[in-house]
Amino acid sequence: MLGKVHRAESAEAPAWDTAASTFSSRTEEPNLAMPRCVVTRRVHFNAAHRLSNPRWSEAENARVFGVCSNPNFHGHNYDLEVSVEGEIDPATGYVLDIQRLKEIVTECLVRHLDHKNLNLDVPWFRDLNPSAENIAVVCWRVLEPAVKPARLAHIRLWETERNYVDYDGA
Ligand SMILES: [Zn+2]
Repeated sequence: MLGKVHRAESAEAPAWDTAASTFSSRTEEPNLAMPRCVVTRRVHFNAAHRLSNPRWSEAENARVFGVCSNPNFHGHNYDLEVSVEGEIDPATGYVLDIQRLKEIVTECLVRHLDHKNLNLDVPWFRDLNPSAENIAVVCWRVLEPAVKPARLAHIRLWETERNYVDYDGA
């Protein structure tokens, strides 16, 4: 999961070589010469959708999806959190320039989703019900090759203030 931080409490503080930002060799601490981090960028898009299964009757769609199957669509303010993981580049101190991550997510995803009707305007959902789960999987598949050499680690898609979906490529 995101934000998992393991903090080792010790009576004796580790000795840092502040100039090199590494542990001094006289400690027994693990080698942190190539530390790895997870970096997250949040983006926003507005989109309309309708949840339905075309093989079902209108009554069955209404029973399963409720108001989300309204034939005239409805909208959401989506928030998408994209997390990438990798080694910290010693030259920059970055896993990935977060501005570059913003550009990748904007170019690869937001440009295609924002102010769109997902069912009608976005080919990714021509034959795929645009549930939050399926949107998250699509976002993963689009982004995974785009963020290399960093590794896409996690996606969280907020569909409402209370509902979100997590996907990690499984
Ligand atoms: Zn909805």
